[in-house]
Amino acid sequence: MNSPTNLMDHSLPPERVPVYEPEQLDDARRQTLKAEITELLRARGAVLVSHYYVDGDVQDLAEETGGCVADSLEMARFGRDHDASSLVVAGVRFMGETAKILSPHKRVFMPTLDAECSLDLGCPPDEFEAFCKEHDDRTVGVYANTSVRVKALADWVVTSSVALPIIDVLDARGEKILWAPDKHLGRYIQAQTGADMLLWSGACIVHEEFKSKALFDLKAVYPEAGVLVHPESPAAVIDIADVVGSTSQIIKAAGELPNELFIVATDRGIFHKLRQRNPSKRFIEAPTAGDGATCRSCAHCPWMAMNELSRLADCLRSDEQMTANEIAVDPEIGRRAMTPLTRMLNFQA
Ligand code: SF4
Repeated sequence: MNSPTNLMDHSLPPERVPVYEPEQLDDARRQTLKAEITELLRARGAVLVSHYYVDGDVQDLAEETGGCVADSLEMARFGRDHDASSLVVAGVRFMGETAKILSPHKRVFMPTLDAECSLDLGCPPDEFEAFCKEHDDRTVGVYANTSVRVKALADWVVTSSVALPIIDVLDARGEKILWAPDKHLGRYIQAQTGADMLLWSGACIVHEEFKSKALFDLKAVYPEAGVLVHPESPAAVIDIADVVGSTSQIIKAAGELPNELFIVATDRGIFHKLRQRNPSKRFIEAPTAGDGATCRSCAHCPWMAMNELSRLADCLRSDEQMTANEIAVDPEIGRRAMTPLTRMLNFQA
């Protein structure tokens, strides 16, 4: 089914994308910081919840200290269900905010509050609210990569791991959807479900970089490779995929498929877990170079890269720094955002 599309471009202009080079640490310094953070987490009664895209040492530390490494859906669920009084979220701001919405009585900290997301930044709440009012006959479904205020305007919040089945159910009920902010994910869901979807036009600066022609050429060099693609990628890249899925679905597919080699179109932070789980298999990055390449991100999110061991240690060392790095959510807006988030978590349960 063809649906109207909101044509205003909400991609983030290049000048709003930071260039970020993580500090290079030698092995001794990494081990010292990991030991210090382990002790600080214990002393603060905090648990570390990490996304697959952050630094591999931070991912390992989360697992070694009783926290978790997961996609944004499972991060939210883990943080909500864990009995620690404080959560430290290594990821980007909307992940910290989601943890706070679901656990308003816990304190939630992040290694840095500068870790943004181009999808969140490309969906300003006032503009989005006006868009919703213009189309108030539609069910509002928003991706988790949005601010608290945008979530509070939604009927449903979804992550990439549950977006398809949820929109499928809404479509079967005859509901027309207003979708934001990722246009590529929206188009993918629209194509898979046939739902009537009006799309916001945001994009992820990492996934939008993948090039279909260069991927096609690479696949010709490695015909035996399985191609794993995140659905925030452009449609022409998705068309080449053997498996399209969220981070956790990509990791699962890499373990289950018989291929010994994979080309992976998502943030390169995921390679840490892919290689840990599949030591005998090989993984190569899908190309970001090719016709029209701008390579603002080169398959690694600059905001995810800000989650470094040194910032994590800084965040936990003093009460003052913890306060400066604490996520705050307006309680009333948080309560409104909790409803569509809880719908998603209950749908999955
Ligand atoms: S990788 Fe893309 S979707 Fe994920 S946080 Fe970075 S900009 Fe946002």
